[in-house]
Amino acid sequence: MLKVCPCCCTAHDAESGFHANRSTADGRSYYCKNCTANRRARPWFDPTNVFQSCRVCGDVKSLHDFDRHGSTYLGVTARCTVCRMRAQAEQIRLRLSAFDEIESQVEAWLHDADRD
Ligand SMILES: [Zn+2]
Ligand SMILES: [Zn+2]
Repeated sequence: MLKVCPCCCTAHDAESGFHANRSTADGRSYYCKNCTANRRARPWFDPTNVFQSCRVCGDVKSLHDFDRHGSTYLGVTARCTVCRMRAQAEQIRLRLSAFDEIESQVEAWLHDADRD
């Protein structure tokens, strides 16, 4: 059986030209093996021309403004770099304030100990 790949518009044998894919109606992947490999290598991929909206701030930014992440579709994280850095800074601030709290607690205990 021949199947036409929508990417290269070429008919290939469905069995040998396409990867098996259980989620499609015919059990073969949407794009032919060649195109699947090409899309994986992403020769067309220019991060400055691809945009996505950040899941945190909602701003639409080019992929340059996101951290790289291998396992996602676009190869970047859903959260932009600015939001990631902001979250990291916030975490450090929380950690430091927790540390301050512990320190003042210790100081209070030492004071108490002095009084005894
Ligand atoms: Zn193809
Ligand atoms: Zn963001």
